[in-house]
Amino acid sequence: MAQFTDEELGQLKARLQKRYLELREEVRGELERSGDQRYVDLAGSVADPGDDSVADMLLDLNAAIVDRQVREMREVETTLKRLAELDFGDCIECGGEIGFDRLMAYPTAQRCIRCQEFHEKTYSRENSPTL
Ligand SMILES: [Zn+2]
Repeated sequence: MAQFTDEELGQLKARLQKRYLELREEVRGELERSGDQRYVDLAGSVADPGDDSVADMLLDLNAAIVDRQVREMREVETTLKRLAELDFGDCIECGGEIGFDRLMAYPTAQRCIRCQEFHEKTYSRENSPTL
């Protein structure tokens, strides 16, 4: 994997955990605003990083209002696992290093900046929302 100092790994881990908490708060807020009692109950049980069950429950409920957040929470969980296993920081396309600064800005980034730009150019047409 890419080489990071213990301090850098600590910072990346803290960055991911902070992002997870932000997403969790967003999910809780959205669920509470929804007024749907099933969602409100679930909002009270949204759990800590590494607890897959809440994301599973949200997926089961087909909670489209928090779809984006749930997907990103999943990404953060996966990234935290990979970081713990020291299988982290390499671009999934070219195998090069993603880079500490980029990971601090986008902690769930899976591609280096060059591959990301290429990926977006290639797929942007299909992925752009049709308004
Ligand atoms: Zn790359």
